[in-house]
Amino acid sequence: MRKDDCIFCKIANGEIPSKTLYEDDTFRVILDLGPAAKGHALLIPKEHAANLYELPDETAGKVLVLAKKMAVQMTDALKCDGFNLVQNNGEVAGQTVHHFHLHLIPRYADDGQAINWVPGNPTQDELEAVRKQIVE
Ligand code: AMP
Ligand code: ZN
Repeated sequence: MRKDDCIFCKIANGEIPSKTLYEDDTFRVILDLGPAAKGHALLIPKEHAANLYELPDETAGKVLVLAKKMAVQMTDALKCDGFNLVQNNGEVAGQTVHHFHLHLIPRYADDGQAINWVPGNPTQDELEAVRKQIVE
């Protein structure tokens, strides 16, 4: 189902033009307008889902297969040195467009980017408490 006020619904379904790298019945892959590095692309499902929680299992199952295919093609074409896949859910996680999308970010030795976090230093007991909180 598309949403009338969603920009990625409009882009994915071709109502707003984009620099499209790939399209099939389920997805469109476009170049990000504010790239972290040359070739930064977004893999966008055509059906609206706000985030990973709402993404249908069938679509979720196809996303990483397409991400791999695009990463191989882009690495070959752009000669990048590595790749980040990034997927934000919720404003606290940095999501600004509330239509699921997977960032495909080619990385270059000299790109000056930092897609990273500050690592914590939990004790084994703290890790165990988190493990229990999730699985029990
Ligand atoms: P996120 O912060 O994970 O929600 O990512 C949203 C991304 O969409 C950002 O990297 C933006 O640069 C990108 N973006 C927003 N609007 C457009 C647009 N019209 N075309 C291409 N990329 C866009
Ligand atoms: Zn949408």
